[in-house]
Amino acid sequence: MPSLPKGFVTRFAPSPTGPLHLGHAYSACLAHDMAQKAQGQFLLRIEDIDQSRARPHWEAQIYDDLTWLGLSWPLPVMRQSDQMPRYHAALDQLAEWGLIYRCTCRRRDIEAASAAPQEGAPAFGPDGRIYPGTCRGHTVTCAAEAAGAALRLDLARAFDRLGDLHFTETGPRHAGQHKITRDAALAYIGDPVLARPDMGTSYHLSVVVDDAAQGISHVIRGADLFEATAIHVILQSLLGYPVPQYHHHALIRDADGKRLAKRDDARAIALYRDAGHTPADIRAMVGL
Ligand code: GLU
Repeated sequence: MPSLPKGFVTRFAPSPTGPLHLGHAYSACLAHDMAQKAQGQFLLRIEDIDQSRARPHWEAQIYDDLTWLGLSWPLPVMRQSDQMPRYHAALDQLAEWGLIYRCTCRRRDIEAASAAPQEGAPAFGPDGRIYPGTCRGHTVTCAAEAAGAALRLDLARAFDRLGDLHFTETGPRHAGQHKITRDAALAYIGDPVLARPDMGTSYHLSVVVDDAAQGISHVIRGADLFEATAIHVILQSLLGYPVPQYHHHALIRDADGKRLAKRDDARAIALYRDAGHTPADIRAMVGL
């Protein structure tokens, strides 16, 4: 294995499923600036596990847009679709410990089984509707046993191997030391999907495996992913990976206060460029 970079290492990890917009420009430039200030490294990673939505032309546009913004990163760029064997190895390890199970529930099964949640208990967490546990117990001994079904992490069993967990957050909204307890994880997250039937992995598993493989010391990303961090720290701790420091930045919103999404093509970086704006204009628009 090549030696990992040391010191401050961060990354920007877009999915090539649409144009990058102002929110992405903010995230990428902020990570790049923070790395530069710390005399660290800024990496780019293409998160294309959803092959039904990823397109080569969007990936090409990501390189174009970021280069135009003045950012640079070492080559080769890691592409998640090339990393499947590493995701499967991580799943196999979790399976060997008896921590993952095969889940055949469809969305409507989960909805029906969760119809009467306990009073005060949240219905949704960072991995969607909190799983009622219907398939728990269908433990697998290796990832290949999923065979067209999803694989979920048995959180209660996972915590039998873990103590309370912590991570440090430096973002504006949640700055401080955060503790993840078993009871809170069971109530607010539920058993997360680690491998989707159509992908053989999931966002949570891939991001954790790759951040470790790339030696990411600082994760800088939008505040919409703050709640998912608990899932990532749980996985890092199970798999024996270091826990990076987290910085969840504010989201760029449109004039009505709604957060930008990929479908907000009107705010695509390429359109601003075509309209004659400069990279300095973009930085000013997002407050950098
Ligand atoms: N690929 C994710 C996205 O485009 C970002 C993942 C991350 O930064 O952890 O929203």
